[in-house]
Amino acid sequence: MARVALVHLGKVYGNDVRALDDVTLEAADGELLVLVGPSGCGKSTVLRLVAGLEEATSGEIRIGGVVVNDLPPQERNVAMVFQDYALYPHMTVRRNLEFPLRMRGAARTEIDRRVAAVARQLELDAVLDRLPKQLSGGQRQRVAMGRALVREPAVSLLDEPLSNLDAKLRVEVRAEIAALQERTRTTMLYVTHDQVEAMTLGERVAVLNAGRLQQVASPRELYEHPASAFVAGFIGNPPMNLLPGRLVADGGETRVAVAGGTLRLAPAALAGREPAGGDEVTAGIRPEALVRVEDGAANALRFVVEHVEWLGHETLAHLRAAAGADGAQVVARLPGMHPLAAGAPLALAVDPGRVYVFDRDGRALA
Ligand code: ADP
Repeated sequence: MARVALVHLGKVYGNDVRALDDVTLEAADGELLVLVGPSGCGKSTVLRLVAGLEEATSGEIRIGGVVVNDLPPQERNVAMVFQDYALYPHMTVRRNLEFPLRMRGAARTEIDRRVAAVARQLELDAVLDRLPKQLSGGQRQRVAMGRALVREPAVSLLDEPLSNLDAKLRVEVRAEIAALQERTRTTMLYVTHDQVEAMTLGERVAVLNAGRLQQVASPRELYEHPASAFVAGFIGNPPMNLLPGRLVADGGETRVAVAGGTLRLAPAALAGREPAGGDEVTAGIRPEALVRVEDGAANALRFVVEHVEWLGHETLAHLRAAAGADGAQVVARLPGMHPLAAGAPLALAVDPGRVYVFDRDGRALA
């Protein structure tokens, strides 16, 4: 097991596809670090560079403190699990697990010891003599994991390992992977495009967009203190409402004009800046931070209901600003089966501590 460090890592495919741009990131020894971002943001490229399947254009990759840029894949001691994990269909589970060790010419006693250990960890003992087609999807996924772990790699790289499983199984196997990682304390880089998967699995989550690292933080930190409008809009479901706004000076206070009204801000949202007006900003409000208030209440924004989704435990109200805000739209998450009709007016207030402000480049002011 080992620490993995990416230092100013860059990758350009061909002449002009900049897949990674100056990414600096470290996974501690024994950490499960999740890389998340939309399709094409460069997640798989990170794994391919660490595995040695692609060459970095710039920067360094270190595994256990050793620069591995020039080492061939087989000397890096990393194991990769892909989404379309191909098990050998004509081999039993045991033979599938043995395969990487046989390829290396490991001794029989060593093969038996490691396969037994991995089978125990992954609870595959009972199915060692079955063929892959006689396994459930979750068991097959575990065999694929086992085939990586049996090599006792310094680092495991997982590329969307759950994307071929149905929704229920994904949740189960996700929990298994987390538990397995806890037990084995293998350093893992885990790639997914699914922010829910990232939030539930990672101790720390690295968010990538367009080849650039946006933020690395705990799930809670990403949710509560997004460093950029991109992270704010990516983490959370439904995502944070992001609306064009303008800072306005009001007495000794700075407020934000947004969606046809003005909202008070907590001092922290402005990071202690002097009250100032005029700056164009993006205001961020989570759907759950919008609270229904009496029409005419102070500090409220006024909307018209466009469309309602009743989900039982909550109601998602799709709303449009009532006046003068270029049709700004938001989603509000209201508790229970909230009575609402399309076309009805709705006043919503927000606690000043739950209004985020991002500058014109999308960086959080806080
Ligand atoms: P992700 O895994 O986040 O979906 P990738 O790392 O696969 O993204 O790709 C990042 C970017 O690099 C994308 O724009 C993709 O089209 C491009 N890319 C990936 N592999 C190659 C390649 N072999 N040749 C050219 N462009 C590539």
